[in-house]
Order: sequence, then structure tokens, then C-alpha cells
Amino acid sequence: MRALVFDKKLEVKDVENPVRQKGEALIKVSIAGICNTDHEIIKGYVPGFSGILGHEFLGVVEESDDKDLVGKRVAGEINLACGACEFCRKGLGRHCSNRSVLGIINKNGAFAEYLTLPEPNVFAIPDSIPDTHAIFVEPLAAALEIIEQVNIAPEHKVLLIGDGKLALLIAFVLKTTGCGLTVLGKHREKLDFARDYGMATVLFDDFTPALHDIVIEASGNRSGFMTALDSVKPRGTIVLKSTYAEPFAFNPFQIVVNELTVVGSRCGRFEDAIRFLQSHRLPIDRLISAEFGLDEAEKAFALSARPDTLKVLLKI
Ligand SMILES: [Zn+2]
Ligand SMILES: [Zn+2]
Repeated sequence: MRALVFDKKLEVKDVENPVRQKGEALIKVSIAGICNTDHEIIKGYVPGFSGILGHEFLGVVEESDDKDLVGKRVAGEINLACGACEFCRKGLGRHCSNRSVLGIINKNGAFAEYLTLPEPNVFAIPDSIPDTHAIFVEPLAAALEIIEQVNIAPEHKVLLIGDGKLALLIAFVLKTTGCGLTVLGKHREKLDFARDYGMATVLFDDFTPALHDIVIEASGNRSGFMTALDSVKPRGTIVLKSTYAEPFAFNPFQIVVNELTVVGSRCGRFEDAIRFLQSHRLPIDRLISAEFGLDEAEKAFALSARPDTLKVLLKI
């Protein structure tokens, strides 16, 4: 099969088809999305990863021991848990100490014609959700994780830092809480997208720091993190939603003196994301900037790396 393989560099080439093990589903990938994590892997955020990249996808199950799954349009939970460790026994498979992660840690990913996943990781997409929305299930689950971890209510003043594709998904999710939301970003066109949807937006250059109950840092860079520290009330909460490719130095005194709560936030539950897509008619397909064929992956990555681009899809 054709696949986009990362081994110090990106290359589309012919590789062996994956072999389905017992309890796994063999999935024919139809669309896959390029995520910032893919760019960070290429930059070295996951040292030593080599293999097929890609963890946001939509596909159709071709073979499975669970006959109900065969022929279904599906998305897939990316964390493959061992089921036996301390965290798995508590139902925290996403934190399994022995986990592999689709297209990120030790498991070939979705930028390929086929992939395999354990059946419990495979989620059928209801017919009412179109492909162009279903492709966002994985990042939307990550966005929904925030309201799973932190109580966000109409009385809260919330600052969302970042205007990238994950940040905009987070904005949609926050809007449903009724909180007083401001989206802070560097790109006017991306902010316009949030503004068109009735959200208050501010360009970084025009921002005068004001104090918020909750600040969500989803910009992925140091300046976003420093702005978060300066923009949160004493006893407030900062949610860190970015994985940072580069380490950086900061003085944690504000966290101590202002008695801040800092919450790290990563992946969320697919069931929640699917339910959210069913119950909220959001124009999230507007987050799609472009689609390319797998053989044009290099062009797709180059476009996706540009700061004015939102989601770039690979049609497999
Ligand atoms: Zn991702
Ligand atoms: Zn485990």
C-alpha cells in the first residue's frame, strides 16, 4: 500500500499492508487530517518516532472479529492501552504507562491506505454526521476534555489564547457553556471565523491584559504561555492545551503568589465528541483549508505549516 512514512524525513512510498491481529479492526482510510502534533513530530517533539504518521482519520472497517463493525464508517481513539496497568485498571487508558499511540508512539498511523486498531478503539460514526465533520472527532474530543476537567459556566470570564484549528474547535466548545469568552490570536482571518460565529475576538497587538477566571493556552508558544500567566485572576485556572515542541524558561512565582491552578489537558473521549457533533450544528467544515491526495503529502505539509492555514486533509 502507499503510505507517508517519517524516518528523519517525510516520504510517500510503498510499504507492506498491516496485518490484522485478533481483536483488531482492519480499516481502509478515506480521509486523514494533518495536526500540529504531526509537525511537532517532524520537528522532534517525539524523539525517535519513525513510521507512518497520522492520527486523525475517517475510514471504513473492512475486517473485524466484531461483525457489527464491518462496513461501518469509523473514527479511532488513538491511545492503545495495555488494559492491565494501574492506570488502565482505573479506566485511564489514555494514561496507560505501556501505551502506544496511533501515528505518534510505536504504532503506524493513518497517512496510509490501511491501518489496524483494537476494536474497543473504533467508533462508528452515525449517518447524520457528514465526513467533513467526522474528520474532526479526534481534535474535538481533545477540545471537549477541557470542560470535562474544569467547570466552565456562564459566570466565568474566559480567555482563549490561540486561533489555530484546535483553538477554534475549543472556542466552539466553550461557546456552548455560555461563559464570557474572548479569543486572542495573531491572525485576523482566523479570528474573523470566530467573530462570524458571535465570539469576542482580539488581535494580539491590540490586547491590553485584563484578568480572567480561566485562561486556556492553545497557541503552542512561549508568548502565549506568558500571556496566560499575566491574564489570570488570583486563584484562577490556566489550562495548557498545547504541546510545546521547544522547552522554554519561565519563573513560576506568579503561580505560587497568585495561587493559580494549572491544568494540563490532552486527549478526550470519542463518545463525547460524536454526541457533540450530533447535537450541535456547527460550521466546522469551514476549518478545512485544503485537500490533497496522499502522493501530494509534501505539498500538503508545506501548506499546513503556514500560519494562515487551518485544517489540511489528505484524501487517501
Ligand atoms: Zn492531533
Ligand atoms: Zn495500561
